[in-house]
Amino acid sequence: MFGTCWGGVDIVMEGPPSRKRIAEYWCSEEALHELVMFPALLTDPEEPECQACGYYAVSWPNWNSSKLERAHILARSAGGSWDTSNFLLLCRSCHQEAPMTNDRNHMLQWAQTRPSHFSAEFDKLSIELSALGVDPEVLSGIGRHALLASARRLAAGTHFGRMSCATLALAVRGWIEGV
Ligand SMILES: [Zn+2]
Repeated sequence: MFGTCWGGVDIVMEGPPSRKRIAEYWCSEEALHELVMFPALLTDPEEPECQACGYYAVSWPNWNSSKLERAHILARSAGGSWDTSNFLLLCRSCHQEAPMTNDRNHMLQWAQTRPSHFSAEFDKLSIELSALGVDPEVLSGIGRHALLASARRLAAGTHFGRMSCATLALAVRGWIEGV
C-alpha cells in the first residue's frame, strides 16, 4: 500500500510495489531473518532473475523492465497485503505453478527448492543437440549460464518471447562451429 497527498487530501492507493522495490527488499537487512532460512531468494539489484527457478533473459536490462511477475506470497484471498514483503518476483511459469497458501513459509520453501530453469533447459538442450549429431558432452566443459546467454544472443528469433530448445541447439551448434 502506498499513499500520496493530492490537493491536501491524503489518498491511499492500493497496488503492488515496483519490481525494483521488491528486488531491493529481498537483498535488504529487513529480509535477512528469512534469507537465512531461504538463501535462494536473495536478489542481485543488477541481475533480474526469477527468485524460484533463476530464469532470466539477456534482453532484460533491469528489474523494472524484466518480464518477471509480482507474485503474492500470501494471496489477497488469504488476507495477503500489498506490502513489499508480501511479494516475490517470479517468471510466468513459476507464478502459474506456485502454491496458493495461507502459510508464508510454505510459499518461501517452495520457491527455495524449485529446480533451476537452466538445469531443465540443459537436459532438453542435450536431447536437441544429439538430434543434430552434436555430442552434448561438448557442453560439459563450458559454463552453462554463459553458453546459454551467448547462444541466446546468437539466435535470431524467439517464439512468444522464449527461445525453443531446438532453436537454442542450432545456435549452440553454430557457436561451436564458429569457435
Ligand atoms: Zn521461474
